[in-house]
Amino acid sequence: MATSVDFVEFVCGQVSGTGAVRYKKMFGEYMVYIDDKPLLLVCDNTVFVKILPCLDELMANADRGYPYNGAKEHYALDIEDRDLTTAVIEALLPVIPIPKPKKKKADKSVQVGDLAALKKWDRINKQDQKLLLSNVFCRTCGVTTIVNYSINDDKFGIVLCGECKQCGTKVARVIENEWFGGK
Ligand SMILES: [Zn+2]
Repeated sequence: MATSVDFVEFVCGQVSGTGAVRYKKMFGEYMVYIDDKPLLLVCDNTVFVKILPCLDELMANADRGYPYNGAKEHYALDIEDRDLTTAVIEALLPVIPIPKPKKKKADKSVQVGDLAALKKWDRINKQDQKLLLSNVFCRTCGVTTIVNYSINDDKFGIVLCGECKQCGTKVARVIENEWFGGK
């Protein structure tokens, strides 16, 4: 049984005032973040929190359960008990870290933003492509060559988004439709 959006909204209401609240759907269930920290796991319309020493006293009488197959045992939080919920969140906030963003793999190859853009790019002859790639403005270096770029479609043409070859600063260049005979 999955969690209903109504229930997640109710959970968010119950924790309002403890910090910046948002939720994210993950594998069919929901994670509720407070101040960007993943604190409440909502599965089957039940709110789960990690079993951590900081909750030993608060959750001594709480039910325990497994949010999903293969999950660690969690406490089931009585979300209707607003005082308890607030106390649990206040105990968890200093303990649970903000997840680090996943590092993007450095990729030397061209990433295709979308196929339409790539088709337009392919209509430009190789010599002009080279000219365009080596004629990108970097606010640090001035005119530079763009590397690690992706090609994205744009209403004015296409946009190359990448990095300055010399300093690594993010740079972009719009290539107007005229370059590939578009309108
Ligand atoms: Zn630069």
